[in-house]
Amino acid sequence: MRRISVFGATGSVGASTLDLIRRDRDAYHIVALTGGRNVDALAKLAREFMPEIAVVADADLQDDLSTALDGCGVEAASGRSAIVEAATRPIDWVMSAIVGAAGLEPGLRALEQGATLALANKETLVAAGPLVMATARDNGATILPVDSEHSAVFQALRGEDPASVERVIITASGGAFRDWPAEKLANATVADASKHPNWEMGQRITIDSASMFNKALEVIETREFFGIDPGRIEVLVHPESLVHALVGFSDGALMAHVGPPDMRHAIGHALHWPDRRALPVERLDLAAIGSLSFRAADEARWPALRLAREVMAAGGGAGAIFNAAKEQALDGFIAGRIGFADMATVVETALENLHSISDTASPLGLEAVMVLDQRARQEAQRVMDAFEQ
Ligand code: NAD
Ligand code: MG
Repeated sequence: MRRISVFGATGSVGASTLDLIRRDRDAYHIVALTGGRNVDALAKLAREFMPEIAVVADADLQDDLSTALDGCGVEAASGRSAIVEAATRPIDWVMSAIVGAAGLEPGLRALEQGATLALANKETLVAAGPLVMATARDNGATILPVDSEHSAVFQALRGEDPASVERVIITASGGAFRDWPAEKLANATVADASKHPNWEMGQRITIDSASMFNKALEVIETREFFGIDPGRIEVLVHPESLVHALVGFSDGALMAHVGPPDMRHAIGHALHWPDRRALPVERLDLAAIGSLSFRAADEARWPALRLAREVMAAGGGAGAIFNAAKEQALDGFIAGRIGFADMATVVETALENLHSISDTASPLGLEAVMVLDQRARQEAQRVMDAFEQ
C-alpha cells in the first residue's frame, strides 16, 4: 500500500487530492493530514481517512484538535514544528498544498527522505528553487509539478530532448480584472478580486490571479523547475483557461496541453505518474466550445510580471524576498490597509530596499532563506506603515 500524506488537507487543492484518494481508498495508507487553523474541517477529514497523525498549524488549537479526535485513534499534534516532524515520517508520496512559504520546510523534509513531492506550493520554488532542486537530486527524490501550467509543460516534455526546447508559454486567465480598464484597478476591492472567472481556488491564489502575482510566481517556478532560461519563458493571456501551457520546439512545433480547469487533472497526473489513469474530470467538447482566444500579457498593466523578470535577473535571495513581500502585501490588501494596485508598489519597494542583502550566492540554505523571508516581511510592513501616514 502506498504511504501518503497531504499537507494543506483542508484547503482547495487538499480537498481535490482527497477526492481522488477517496475513490480508491484501499490503495493508500494515509500517514499525515495537516491543516492551518480549521480544526473542525481537519478533524472531519481525519475521522474519514484515519491518518496516523493530524496536525493543525496553530499551536493554540492543540486542545481543540485533541478533543475533536478523542477516541478515534488518530494522534493529534499542533504547531509548525509538528508539521515538519510529520514530514519526516516514512512516506512514498506527499501532496504539498500548504499556501505560502510555510510549505517550504515540510517539503524539504519529505525530499530528504527520498519521497515523491507533488508540488502545488509554488512558493517553495520561488523562495528556494536551487535548494529544493538540489535536495531532490541529492536524495534521489522526485518532484512532480501540480500547478496546472507546470503539469502541462511537464506532460508536453515527456519523451522530448530538453535541448530541442525553444520556449515555454504559460497561459493566464487574466483573473477577475482582465476586462477592467487599468484606471479602475486602483479601486478594486477584496470581494472583487476574490472572484475567479474559471477556477475555484483558495482566496489568496485567487487574488494573486487578479493581480498577476500568481503568474509572476509561476514564471519563476517554470525557471526553477525546468531550468529554462528566463528569456525563453512567455506569458499569454487565454481567457478560457483550457490551454494550460505550450512548449515550443526547435522545429517550430508547439505542443499544447488542453484540458478543463479542474485541478484533479494535474493532481491525478502526479498521483499516478508515471502511469496515466482514468480521472473524473470533464471531457472537453471542442466543437461546442468553438473557439479559443489569446492575447499578449501587458507588463505595463501587470507590474508583477515585470518584477518576476527582475527577480530572475537578480537571482540569489531575490525570489525569497519577492515571495515574502508579496505575502505581506496580500495580507495588507485583504486587511484593507493598502489598495489593490499598491501591492506591486510594496513588493517593488521592498525588493529595492533589500537589494544589498538579496545579492548572495546560490543555493542558499534553509536558514538563509528564512532570514531573507523575515527581513522581507518586516520591510513590506514598514513600507505599508509609511503608506498609511
Ligand atoms: P487554500 O487556502 O485553499 O488552502 C491552504 C491550506 O494550507 C489549508 O489547508 C490551510 O489550512 C493551510 N495553511 C494555511 N496557512 C498555513 C500555515 N501557516 N501553516 C500550515 N498550513 C497552513 O489554498 P489552495 O488554493 O489549496 O492552494 C494551496 C497551494 O497550492 C498554494 O501554494 C497555491 O498557490 C497552490 N495552487 C493552488 C491551486 C488551486 O487550484 N487552488 C492551483 C495551483 C496551485
Ligand atoms: Mg497555476
